[in-house]
This record gives sequence, structure tokens and C-alpha cells, in this order.
Amino acid sequence: MLALLLAAATVSTDFDGGNLGRIERLSPTHFRLALKGQKDQDGRNRQANWYYFRVDNATPGTEMRLDLVDLPGEYNYKPNRGAVTRDTPAVLSHDRKTWRHITAFEYDTSGPTMTLKVTPERSTFWVAHTPPYTNEHLEALRKQPGKHEAVIGKTVQGRPLYLWTIGDGPKTAWLMFRQHAWESGSSWAGDGAVRALLADASLRQGITWKIFPLCDPDGVTHGGVRFNVNGYDLNRNWDVSDPAKMPEIAAQRGAIDTWISSGRTIDFFLSLHNTETGEYLEGPPGTAHQEFATRLFGLLKAGTTFAPTRELFFAETTTTAGMKGRMNVVQGLHARHRIPAFLMEQRISHNPKLGRLPAIEDRVRFGKELVEAIAKALQ
Ligand SMILES: [Zn+2]
Repeated sequence: MLALLLAAATVSTDFDGGNLGRIERLSPTHFRLALKGQKDQDGRNRQANWYYFRVDNATPGTEMRLDLVDLPGEYNYKPNRGAVTRDTPAVLSHDRKTWRHITAFEYDTSGPTMTLKVTPERSTFWVAHTPPYTNEHLEALRKQPGKHEAVIGKTVQGRPLYLWTIGDGPKTAWLMFRQHAWESGSSWAGDGAVRALLADASLRQGITWKIFPLCDPDGVTHGGVRFNVNGYDLNRNWDVSDPAKMPEIAAQRGAIDTWISSGRTIDFFLSLHNTETGEYLEGPPGTAHQEFATRLFGLLKAGTTFAPTRELFFAETTTTAGMKGRMNVVQGLHARHRIPAFLMEQRISHNPKLGRLPAIEDRVRFGKELVEAIAKALQ
């Protein structure tokens, strides 16, 4: 009779943010799971790091082996062994609310292959690269009162792109979250930042906060990596204008242009990203904003869980010399309006200041610390 209860375990991705390539069942408790990854409009720069799947009909208490394969890729046209390594353990949940890192795994450099060893507590569980932040989480944040919302445009697939305004002071701080779909940590920090700005009037003293809360809703829905559904990297291409192929960038740039042409300034701009092991703050090209950048870097280093792996540095004018479509948002906005635009990367690997792998609550707390530091630097 017991055998009748033990249906075969299955792996699926048919939900918001879910993504895998080929799924192979090697035994009742062993699966080989290829990462689909994503390539750009020219079939280059493949990045394969976002995976998010559900296992059903697992046997609680029995170990499963889940091999993640097809990891190698390319970044800025240079080949690599992939962004899933022993430094970036997967996360596991039984309820999609609380997530913990899977610390039992093997990483075989020859494939490479990351083999997760999971002993589930229930028959259904979820596994992802980092704790997912989906469009459902954004909907919950949208319901928070105290901000003005504008729809600045639509994605390739017609999803709305939001711009939120909080406060009405003379200075402007403009924050951008989740340009890249895989970087859920950026969204959790954004969530913490927005909640802090709504809760604490002192942070709004003298400052208008403009916020792009989620820049690639199509990618977040499909479990994308870093390109829009037409293959355009949403943090390159800031030096080209093509509203049909990349309406996301056109909408974001259009909202900034409108603000500037209305006579307002942008005193600080920041786009927040995630990497595997690097953590840094990149200032705008040139020397005009070095003093402000140095002050902000000091505040972040001293007062937040930002744990830089390199010193403050200033951007080149493009990511790839001699090629069109290779300016990131910092480079593009600086070239266009001389905006003091910054980019921050935060690692998903062990953070020495936290003493652990970053969790959702660490990201949310950092979001609050981030807006506190920016307000202090500006006020
Ligand atoms: Zn990014």
C-alpha cells in the first residue's frame, strides 16, 4: 500500500519567476537540472545563474540530489565558468516565505556541476539561486500608502513600469532597483528603502525621492537573467534609443529627461545591483563629484552592512570601448545630463560584516541604512 502513496517526485517551473532548462530524472531521488540562462540580442554574453523550481512528491526525510548543470557563460564578451559556484549556495523554502541556504552541496569544477543535497521536511519544496522577489511582492509594496505612483511606460510584453515619488523637498535623490531580473537582492533592499522612506519623515526632510522599484517586470515574471525579452541588456544600451526593442530603457530615460527639462535637478542617482562575490560603489565618470562620492562611500562603509571588496572608483565612459549599446545607466546619464549617477553592487556570497550569507532581512535592513546614508550625505 505504501508504494501507492509514493508518486514519483517531479520538478516544475510553471509559476511566477520559475525557470530551468532541461529537466532529467536520473533516479527517483536524483535529478539533473540544466540552467536555461539567457543570451543577448546577438546570441552573446550568455549568463546562466537564475534558477527557481518546485519539487513535488518528494519523500520527507529522504535525501535528494539535484545536479545543476550548463553553467558556463560569457560576460562583456569574455568566457567564464559560470556564475553558480561554491561561493553562491542555493536557497530552499517549504513555504516561499522563509528561505535558508543549502549548505550541503558538492561543487565539481570539471563541468562545472553544483550538486545540491536536500533532505526535505515536506513533500513540496522550492529551490532558487537567491530568495525570490517577484511581481507579487511588488504588488504588496504598491499597496503601501504615502507615495505618488506614475506609470511611465510599458515593457515589451505590456507590463506597466512604475515611478514612485516620496517627499517634495528641493533636492532629488533618484533610486533604481532590479535592472537585472536575477538580482532579487536589489528588490529586497528596495523594499526596505521604500518602507523606511514612508515610515520616517526625517528622511524626507528637504528631499524628493524618485524610485524605479522594478525595471524588468517581464524578466522577473519569466525568471530571466539580465536581458529584456528581446535580448537587450537593461544596464547597457543607455547610449542608444530604440523604444520598440527596449521600451524599458526608453521609459526610464524619458522620465528622467522630463524631470530635468522641467527645471529640476538630480542631486544623486543610484542603481543597485547584485554580483556573486564583488561589492562596490562606482561613481560617475570624471572628477566633478569626487568629494560627494567620497563622503557617501565613507558613510556607507561606517554605518551600513555594505562591505566593499574594493575602494570607491569612478566609471569609464563606456563598458566596451568602440561599441554602440554598451553604456550602463551611470555612464549614459552622466553623458546626457552630467548627473552624479552611481552604481552599487552587493554580493550574494558570504558578507564578512554580517558574518553570514545575506538573507532577506539583511537586504531589507540595508535598504533602510542606504536611504539614511544618502539623506545624511545630501542634507
Ligand atoms: Zn546587475
